[in-house]
Amino acid sequence: MEGLSDMVFVMKVEGGFEFTYDFVNRAAMEGTDITQAALGKTIQEVCARDQSDFLYEKYKEVVISKNSVTFEDSYISHAGEKFHSKTLLTPLFNDLGQCEQIVGVVKDITSEKVAESERRVAWDRLHESKERYHSLFHHNSDAIISLDLNGHITNGNVAVETISGYSPLEYKGSVWDSFVVEGDKQLATKLFMGAISGSTENSQLEIHNKAGDKICLSIKITPLIINEQVIGVYCIFRDITELLKAQKQLEESQKRFQIIAEHAHDLITLMDEKGKIIYASPSYRKILGYDNKEYLGKNFLHNVHPDDRMRMEEAFIQSIKSGESFSIEIKQYNYKNENVWSESRGTPVFDNRNNLIYILVLTRDISLQKEYEMKLKDFALHDPLTELPNRRLFNERLNQALETLKEKNKDELAVIMLDIDRFKEVNDEMGHDVGDRVIIEFGRRITQMIREKDTVARIGGDEFIILLPNIGSADKAVAIAKDILQCIRKPWQANDRQLFITTSIGIAMSQKQDNTAVSLFKNADIALYEAKNRGRDSYNLWKNK
Ligand code: GH3
Ligand code: MG
Repeated sequence: MEGLSDMVFVMKVEGGFEFTYDFVNRAAMEGTDITQAALGKTIQEVCARDQSDFLYEKYKEVVISKNSVTFEDSYISHAGEKFHSKTLLTPLFNDLGQCEQIVGVVKDITSEKVAESERRVAWDRLHESKERYHSLFHHNSDAIISLDLNGHITNGNVAVETISGYSPLEYKGSVWDSFVVEGDKQLATKLFMGAISGSTENSQLEIHNKAGDKICLSIKITPLIINEQVIGVYCIFRDITELLKAQKQLEESQKRFQIIAEHAHDLITLMDEKGKIIYASPSYRKILGYDNKEYLGKNFLHNVHPDDRMRMEEAFIQSIKSGESFSIEIKQYNYKNENVWSESRGTPVFDNRNNLIYILVLTRDISLQKEYEMKLKDFALHDPLTELPNRRLFNERLNQALETLKEKNKDELAVIMLDIDRFKEVNDEMGHDVGDRVIIEFGRRITQMIREKDTVARIGGDEFIILLPNIGSADKAVAIAKDILQCIRKPWQANDRQLFITTSIGIAMSQKQDNTAVSLFKNADIALYEAKNRGRDSYNLWKNK
């Protein structure tokens, strides 16, 4: 007993349930506070209250059951360390079958306990990491298959079936590249060999799904390493067929847009919601001579003629407010700093929350159109034969002059009406073409006789009219009329023949009252009529009778 490392206590059983210490071995005395002095004493006398109550119940159980009892307990050693123990209480009986002694053998199971608790922690960790792995593997939206070193599929997650159409029963055990399309098999082998030798590879390859369709995969293949040894391969992939299709469609539509934009004769300009240009078509180079990239980041108005900027800005604002397109004619500068007449049609573009995202402006060069417009306008106000102002333009200028006269109390103006004498004869004798040349020359001659600010207009066949603004007095108008008569009398050269032309002139001066274009015309006409009556080649000044 003294040689045992287990603690041994022998208790004497007296008077039914009284237990006194009979023997305590060395190990017991070293492991606890109990000494030889305890012998003959009861448990209650030797042990602390808590422990003695517990032990007493256990000893009592042995006596009652007449059987061994085992229990586990823990205690604090002299040194303050916590120890775990396992105790076996065995009854010894006398010849009458009465329990006389109980032998208690206490085994130190501290190290076993510690090992067990460590094992439990390790198990919990293992369990958690298994769960994590399970989650990562099975709930991954990417498909994952594990391969052995021969390339056979050992496992796969749910997404594998979703992508391939094959059930685990169908794909497990198959060689993985049997699903890969013929053209990609070599690549598949290369990727697999790379993973086996420890590297991770990313690539794209195509497989056939169960329905026989080609599926394009983005694939990552990575070695499965345990204890520094590659024991297999993980293959992670996702279906990118739709993505590639969408990408292709996008590329095609971009290409189409590029062709349209590059060959458009209009300027295509896209602005962000702040009015900064984010796209300008290459046609900018052709139409304005600027590199389209120079426009990026700038405001649309930067190259618009200052006269048109306010109008254009207002058009932008109104269009954004109303959500409707606008059309505006503006002048822009080309690279030579010349004005280019442009027609801009702008459209605001909103997202589905009605926030402005872009403003699209299509601009057309309308310089040619403007030029025609100008010519047409000119045509409407000029006589085509002599290129002199016509009656309409003359009227405009006369009204303007009358307006100025009224407002600023300027000098009087004069209206001089002229009609070539016996012009029909020229036509009859010399022909219509000569007649035309005479009309042109007549216009030229009277133009020479007047001032810069005066206007000569042809108002009928051989009828002309002159406006002399602020001429001041009738005398000055008469002087001009005389000069004109003189100048017209000079011989005319036509088809090797000399012609003699004269004209009659009617003069009307502006009045203090009743100053209208109509009355001035009428008065000059009356005066002219009288000049004709008096025998032609003369002037006549209208007088209020
Ligand atoms: P009068 O002294 O009374 O003015 O006689 P006239 O012969 O000049 O008569 P009138 O002024 O009434 O006639 C003008 C003529 O001018 C009539 C027409 O034949 C001619 N005429 C009108 N327009 C043109 C034209 O564009 N070219 C030519 N060559 N002749 C024209
Ligand atoms: Mg005439």
